[in-house]
Amino acid sequence: MSVADVPSGPWAARCATHPEEAATGTCARCGTFLCGLCTRTVLGRVYCGPCAERPEVNFLERFRLGLWGRRDAWAWAAGIACALLVPLTAFLLVRGEFAVGAGCALSAGVGGAFFLGLPWARHALLAAPVVLALGSALRGWGYAAVGFGCLFVSALSIVSSTRNQLFFQREVSEKQLLRLWHVRENNPLARTALSVALGGVFLPVMAPLAILLGGWALSRVNPTSYPPVGRKGQALAAIGVGVTALALWGLLLWPRLGGLLDRLMEG
Ligand SMILES: [Zn+2]
Ligand SMILES: [Zn+2]
Repeated sequence: MSVADVPSGPWAARCATHPEEAATGTCARCGTFLCGLCTRTVLGRVYCGPCAERPEVNFLERFRLGLWGRRDAWAWAAGIACALLVPLTAFLLVRGEFAVGAGCALSAGVGGAFFLGLPWARHALLAAPVVLALGSALRGWGYAAVGFGCLFVSALSIVSSTRNQLFFQREVSEKQLLRLWHVRENNPLARTALSVALGGVFLPVMAPLAILLGGWALSRVNPTSYPPVGRKGQALAAIGVGVTALALWGLLLWPRLGGLLDRLMEG
């Protein structure tokens, strides 16, 4: 029942928790009458308080909490880069290479801070390539300057990614969260199956595996469940590409297999 369907007037339905208040809607999960005070909105649907807290209703909140403050692949990469740069910096400074050594020390510091999730490290990750590009340009190292320029573009895409913002415990919009959820949680098996199927074009053993994975992913698809399980198209594409690859490899390998059998029979 939507908000508009609840009758008003003296005969109107009352809120289950606040009988003095007229109901303004019903919970989408348990059907309880709600007043304005009790109404909670999750992903555009109206729920009562206890239902809104349930993990299957607020799957996006559960997803967000699972990634909140947890290192993403870029944070780990920054940590590894820092661990490699520290001995390199020491080596360069000992050898008297102060300019390159200072660049390495700066990168190591930023990498370490990024790994630890220090809030300023996001800005430092953007600033460091600019500093290094300018330093390289001043010394006349054109290629290095261009390289650091490209690194700045990568850094920009890293700090603006939803996953990285969740590591740094920054609030993200529901839309951003939903997009990330689709990538990571919405039947990821279908996407894996499609990658394996494309691999099957080059490596025949991958084609039957892709058909199996595609079939498995297809069996999981359920658009009416909540949250919905999608990617039917990707699962079907995996099966289609897998079958095509298998057929093409069969056509290519069959005559050779026949020749091999003939030779074995003669021998
Ligand atoms: Zn409810
Ligand atoms: Zn109420």
